[in-house]
Amino acid sequence: MFVELIDLLRCPRPHEDTWLVAAAEETVGRHIVRGTLGCPLCEAEYPVVDAVADFGEAQVAGSAADAITADDTMRAAALLGLDAPGTTVVLGGAWQAVAAPLAELAGTRVLLLDPVHAEPLREEVSALRGGGGLPVAANALRGVALDAYTADEPRVAAAVRALAPRGRLVAPADVPVPAGLTELARDARHWVAERDASSESRPIALSRPRRSDR
Ligand SMILES: [Zn+2]
Repeated sequence: MFVELIDLLRCPRPHEDTWLVAAAEETVGRHIVRGTLGCPLCEAEYPVVDAVADFGEAQVAGSAADAITADDTMRAAALLGLDAPGTTVVLGGAWQAVAAPLAELAGTRVLLLDPVHAEPLREEVSALRGGGGLPVAANALRGVALDAYTADEPRVAAAVRALAPRGRLVAPADVPVPAGLTELARDARHWVAERDASSESRPIALSRPRRSDR
């Protein structure tokens, strides 16, 4: 788990949003390879083992039916609309195949969800398992791509919440498009949908001083 990505993680338990406190027992560069992520509110502890943060209840890994290979890197970049570097995306399950080339191609940071196999340590790619939904801060992600195993209902709902306005969700074609997203395109394999932008105007308006205040 790359230390900078830990800021985006949130305790998955049902209470007020809170970041997690990292305690490292073993680090390699700026990765925590072994340690603990602790919740200051409910005192839950989530172990980091072999650089993967474990939130429990991981999905069954890997699916031959949802075969995604490194050849899908351009497809992933286009579907997720990765037109600017420095953003963060979540890739679920079989999408792991495009993680490293996508990070390189798009200059994006990748958080793997329930990775199928061990991923070599690199600053741009970190991994977590389980968590029921998606233990990531609201409005934090440019995109999320889920495979057949990670696109269950709680995960899809959590992905919508974790997406920034106009962030994109890619999921298997047979998964229903959830409320709060507008479908942009689909083919036999996947659909891509964009998070509605309506929620972005409110915080922007509130952050500006009103004329009468000057
Ligand atoms: Zn907690």
